[in-house]
Amino acid sequence: MGKIIENTIPDEVITKLNQVNSLVVFTGAGISSSAGIPTLTGPRCSPIWEYNFINDLLSAEKIPGKHILHLRLLDNLLEKVKTAPPTLAHLSLAKIANKFTNFHIVSQNFDDLHQRANSNGCLMLHGEITKTRCLNCNLLEIIETNYKMHWQTKCRCGGAWRPDLLLFDEAMSEKLWQQAENLAQSCEMLVAIGSSGQVLPGGLLPAIARRRGAFLVEINLIPTEITPHFHFTILGSSDEVVPKMF
Ligand SMILES: [Zn+2]
Repeated sequence: MGKIIENTIPDEVITKLNQVNSLVVFTGAGISSSAGIPTLTGPRCSPIWEYNFINDLLSAEKIPGKHILHLRLLDNLLEKVKTAPPTLAHLSLAKIANKFTNFHIVSQNFDDLHQRANSNGCLMLHGEITKTRCLNCNLLEIIETNYKMHWQTKCRCGGAWRPDLLLFDEAMSEKLWQQAENLAQSCEMLVAIGSSGQVLPGGLLPAIARRRGAFLVEINLIPTEITPHFHFTILGSSDEVVPKMF
Protein backbone atom coordinates (compact mmCIF):
# COMPACT_ATOMS: atom_id res chain seq x y z
CA MET A 1 0.00 0.00 0.00
CA GLY A 2 1.37 3.39 -0.94
CA LYS A 3 0.82 6.83 0.50
CA ILE A 4 -2.41 8.77 0.03
CA ILE A 5 -1.94 12.54 -0.04
CA GLU A 6 -4.36 15.41 -0.61
CA ASN A 7 -3.73 17.90 -3.38
CA THR A 8 0.07 18.08 -2.93
CA ILE A 9 2.83 16.70 -5.11
CA PRO A 10 5.32 14.76 -2.96
CA ASP A 11 9.06 15.44 -3.53
CA GLU A 12 9.58 11.75 -4.36
CA VAL A 13 7.19 12.10 -7.31
CA ILE A 14 8.93 15.22 -8.65
CA THR A 15 12.33 13.51 -8.31
CA LYS A 16 11.10 10.42 -10.19
CA LEU A 17 9.61 12.55 -12.98
CA ASN A 18 13.04 14.14 -13.47
CA GLN A 19 14.80 10.75 -13.54
CA VAL A 20 12.70 8.56 -15.81
CA ASN A 21 12.92 8.40 -19.59
CA SER A 22 9.69 6.54 -20.23
CA LEU A 23 6.33 7.61 -18.90
CA VAL A 24 2.88 6.21 -19.56
CA VAL A 25 -0.12 8.33 -18.65
CA PHE A 26 -3.29 6.29 -18.29
CA THR A 27 -6.46 8.38 -18.38
CA GLY A 28 -10.06 7.60 -17.52
CA ALA A 29 -13.29 9.56 -17.63
CA GLY A 30 -12.36 11.62 -14.54
CA ILE A 31 -9.96 13.75 -16.59
CA SER A 32 -12.83 14.87 -18.86
CA SER A 33 -15.59 15.29 -16.28
CA SER A 34 -14.84 18.99 -15.64
CA ALA A 35 -15.45 19.55 -19.37
CA GLY A 36 -18.98 18.20 -18.93
CA ILE A 37 -18.51 14.70 -20.33
CA PRO A 38 -20.30 12.10 -18.19
CA THR A 39 -18.40 9.39 -16.31
CA LEU A 40 -19.61 5.86 -15.72
CA THR A 41 -18.55 5.68 -12.09
CA GLY A 42 -17.27 7.85 -9.28
CA PRO A 43 -18.38 11.03 -7.52
CA ARG A 44 -19.11 12.98 -10.71
CA CYS A 45 -21.08 10.14 -12.29
CA SER A 46 -23.77 11.54 -14.54
CA PRO A 47 -27.44 10.57 -14.38
CA ILE A 48 -27.19 9.76 -18.07
CA TRP A 49 -25.62 6.47 -17.10
CA GLU A 50 -28.35 5.64 -14.60
CA TYR A 51 -30.78 4.48 -17.24
CA ASN A 52 -31.19 0.76 -16.93
CA PHE A 53 -31.17 0.33 -20.66
CA ILE A 54 -27.75 1.95 -21.20
CA ASN A 55 -25.88 -1.34 -21.50
CA ASP A 56 -28.49 -2.60 -23.87
CA LEU A 57 -28.45 0.55 -26.00
CA LEU A 58 -24.69 0.73 -26.37
CA SER A 59 -24.38 -2.89 -27.42
CA ALA A 60 -23.15 -4.31 -30.69
CA GLU A 61 -26.52 -5.98 -31.20
CA LYS A 62 -28.06 -2.58 -31.94
CA ILE A 63 -25.68 -1.94 -34.84
CA PRO A 64 -26.15 -0.49 -37.38
CA GLY A 65 -28.24 1.74 -35.17
CA LYS A 66 -31.79 1.49 -36.37
CA HIS A 67 -32.94 1.81 -32.76
CA ILE A 68 -33.99 5.42 -32.27
CA LEU A 69 -32.93 5.58 -28.60
CA HIS A 70 -29.52 4.19 -29.51
CA LEU A 71 -29.05 7.00 -32.02
CA ARG A 72 -30.33 9.60 -29.56
CA LEU A 73 -27.91 8.45 -26.90
CA LEU A 74 -24.95 8.49 -29.30
CA ASP A 75 -25.90 11.97 -30.53
CA ASN A 76 -26.40 13.22 -26.99
CA LEU A 77 -22.88 12.04 -26.05
CA LEU A 78 -21.39 13.29 -29.33
CA GLU A 79 -22.85 16.75 -28.74
CA LYS A 80 -21.37 16.84 -25.22
CA VAL A 81 -17.95 15.85 -26.60
CA LYS A 82 -18.01 18.31 -29.51
CA THR A 83 -18.85 21.26 -27.26
CA ALA A 84 -16.40 20.28 -24.51
CA PRO A 85 -13.09 22.15 -24.36
CA PRO A 86 -9.90 20.24 -23.45
CA THR A 87 -9.34 20.64 -19.70
CA LEU A 88 -6.29 22.14 -17.98
CA ALA A 89 -5.14 18.57 -17.34
CA HIS A 90 -5.36 17.65 -21.04
CA LEU A 91 -3.46 20.81 -22.00
CA SER A 92 -0.70 20.18 -19.42
CA LEU A 93 -0.16 16.64 -20.67
CA ALA A 94 0.20 17.82 -24.26
CA LYS A 95 3.03 20.15 -23.18
CA ILE A 96 5.18 17.56 -21.40
CA ALA A 97 5.53 14.92 -24.12
CA ASN A 98 8.93 16.26 -25.21
CA LYS A 99 10.43 15.95 -21.74
CA PHE A 100 10.61 12.16 -22.05
CA THR A 101 12.31 9.85 -24.54
CA ASN A 102 9.21 7.68 -24.48
CA PHE A 103 5.92 9.29 -23.62
CA HIS A 104 2.56 7.64 -24.24
CA ILE A 105 -1.02 8.39 -23.33
CA VAL A 106 -3.29 5.38 -23.05
CA SER A 107 -6.91 6.41 -22.62
CA GLN A 108 -10.16 4.67 -21.84
CA ASN A 109 -12.15 7.74 -22.82
CA PHE A 110 -14.42 8.00 -25.85
CA ASP A 111 -13.85 11.74 -26.32
CA ASP A 112 -11.18 13.46 -28.42
CA LEU A 113 -9.96 15.97 -25.83
CA HIS A 114 -6.38 14.63 -25.77
CA GLN A 115 -6.22 15.02 -29.55
CA ARG A 116 -7.73 18.51 -29.48
CA ALA A 117 -5.21 19.48 -26.78
CA ASN A 118 -2.53 18.44 -29.32
CA SER A 119 -1.38 15.18 -27.77
CA ASN A 120 -0.33 12.93 -30.62
CA GLY A 121 -0.41 9.17 -30.91
CA CYS A 122 -2.75 8.44 -28.01
CA LEU A 123 -3.78 4.83 -27.67
CA MET A 124 -7.58 5.02 -27.47
CA LEU A 125 -8.62 1.72 -25.91
CA HIS A 126 -12.34 2.31 -26.33
CA GLY A 127 -12.31 4.14 -29.68
CA GLU A 128 -13.68 7.63 -30.30
CA ILE A 129 -17.30 8.71 -30.43
CA THR A 130 -16.46 11.36 -33.04
CA LYS A 131 -15.67 8.69 -35.62
CA THR A 132 -17.78 6.15 -37.45
CA ARG A 133 -16.48 2.95 -38.99
CA CYS A 134 -17.72 0.98 -41.99
CA LEU A 135 -19.02 -2.46 -41.04
CA ASN A 136 -17.83 -3.80 -44.38
CA CYS A 137 -14.39 -2.27 -45.13
CA ASN A 138 -13.47 -0.65 -41.75
CA LEU A 139 -13.04 2.82 -43.29
CA LEU A 140 -13.06 5.49 -40.58
CA GLU A 141 -14.85 8.80 -41.07
CA ILE A 142 -15.15 11.76 -38.74
CA ILE A 143 -18.78 12.63 -38.07
CA GLU A 144 -19.16 16.25 -39.14
CA THR A 145 -22.90 16.43 -38.42
CA ASN A 146 -24.39 13.82 -36.11
CA TYR A 147 -25.03 10.08 -36.10
CA LYS A 148 -28.62 10.45 -37.23
CA MET A 149 -27.64 12.32 -40.38
CA HIS A 150 -24.34 10.55 -41.08
CA TRP A 151 -25.92 7.13 -40.82
CA GLN A 152 -28.45 8.01 -43.52
CA THR A 153 -25.46 7.77 -45.87
CA LYS A 154 -23.49 4.65 -46.78
CA CYS A 155 -19.75 4.11 -47.01
CA ARG A 156 -18.34 4.42 -50.54
CA CYS A 157 -18.12 0.59 -50.58
CA GLY A 158 -21.86 0.43 -49.85
CA GLY A 159 -21.38 -0.71 -46.26
CA ALA A 160 -23.36 0.58 -43.28
CA TRP A 161 -21.77 2.45 -40.38
CA ARG A 162 -21.18 1.66 -36.74
CA PRO A 163 -19.70 3.87 -34.01
CA ASP A 164 -15.92 3.62 -33.66
CA LEU A 165 -16.47 2.64 -30.05
CA LEU A 166 -15.83 -0.47 -28.04
CA LEU A 167 -19.39 -1.30 -27.04
CA PHE A 168 -20.43 -2.88 -23.77
CA ASP A 169 -20.73 -6.40 -25.10
CA GLU A 170 -17.57 -6.35 -27.22
CA ALA A 171 -14.04 -7.51 -26.48
CA MET A 172 -11.05 -5.27 -27.13
CA SER A 173 -9.01 -6.29 -30.16
CA GLU A 174 -6.05 -8.42 -29.20
CA LYS A 175 -3.65 -6.20 -31.16
CA LEU A 176 -4.75 -3.05 -29.34
CA TRP A 177 -4.53 -4.69 -25.93
CA GLN A 178 -1.08 -6.05 -26.77
CA GLN A 179 0.11 -2.52 -27.57
CA ALA A 180 -1.25 -1.22 -24.25
CA GLU A 181 0.21 -4.12 -22.30
CA ASN A 182 3.63 -3.63 -23.93
CA LEU A 183 3.63 0.04 -22.94
CA ALA A 184 2.72 -0.82 -19.34
CA GLN A 185 5.38 -3.53 -19.21
CA SER A 186 8.16 -1.34 -20.55
CA CYS A 187 7.55 2.03 -18.85
CA GLU A 188 9.58 3.29 -15.89
CA MET A 189 6.69 5.31 -14.52
CA LEU A 190 2.92 5.23 -14.91
CA VAL A 191 0.57 8.01 -13.87
CA ALA A 192 -3.14 7.13 -13.80
CA ILE A 193 -5.52 10.08 -13.96
CA GLY A 194 -9.25 9.91 -13.31
CA SER A 195 -9.63 6.16 -13.74
CA SER A 196 -11.70 4.08 -11.33
CA GLY A 197 -9.81 0.99 -12.48
CA GLN A 198 -13.12 -0.85 -12.70
CA VAL A 199 -13.34 -0.99 -16.47
CA LEU A 200 -11.36 -3.93 -17.79
CA PRO A 201 -9.00 -4.80 -19.31
CA GLY A 202 -7.58 -1.22 -19.15
CA GLY A 203 -7.91 -1.18 -15.37
CA LEU A 204 -5.27 -3.92 -15.22
CA LEU A 205 -2.51 -1.72 -16.70
CA PRO A 206 -1.32 -0.18 -13.40
CA ALA A 207 -0.89 -3.62 -11.81
CA ILE A 208 0.98 -4.84 -14.92
CA ALA A 209 3.36 -1.86 -14.78
CA ARG A 210 3.90 -2.31 -11.04
CA ARG A 211 4.83 -5.98 -11.47
CA ARG A 212 7.54 -4.89 -13.93
CA GLY A 213 8.99 -2.47 -11.40
CA ALA A 214 7.52 0.85 -12.60
CA PHE A 215 6.91 3.75 -10.23
CA LEU A 216 3.18 4.42 -9.98
CA VAL A 217 1.22 7.58 -9.19
CA GLU A 218 -2.56 7.90 -9.12
CA ILE A 219 -4.51 11.14 -9.37
CA ASN A 220 -8.19 10.90 -8.48
CA LEU A 221 -10.92 12.61 -6.48
CA ILE A 222 -11.24 9.59 -4.18
CA PRO A 223 -9.27 6.37 -3.56
CA THR A 224 -10.18 3.61 -6.01
CA GLU A 225 -10.15 -0.17 -6.15
CA ILE A 226 -6.70 -0.02 -7.74
CA THR A 227 -5.22 2.45 -5.21
CA PRO A 228 -3.25 -0.35 -3.46
CA HIS A 229 -1.09 -0.77 -6.60
CA PHE A 230 0.23 2.81 -6.49
CA HIS A 231 3.26 4.19 -4.66
CA PHE A 232 1.42 7.50 -4.29
CA THR A 233 -2.23 8.45 -4.64
CA ILE A 234 -2.84 12.18 -4.89
CA LEU A 235 -6.43 13.10 -4.10
CA GLY A 236 -7.73 16.13 -5.95
CA SER A 237 -9.12 17.44 -9.19
CA SER A 238 -6.96 16.56 -12.18
CA ASP A 239 -7.23 20.19 -13.37
CA GLU A 240 -5.43 21.30 -10.20
CA VAL A 241 -3.04 18.42 -9.62
CA VAL A 242 -1.79 17.70 -13.17
CA PRO A 243 -0.59 21.27 -13.96
CA LYS A 244 1.18 21.40 -10.56
CA MET A 245 2.85 18.04 -11.12
CA PHE A 246 4.28 18.61 -14.60
ZN1 LIG B 1 -16.83 0.63 -46.47
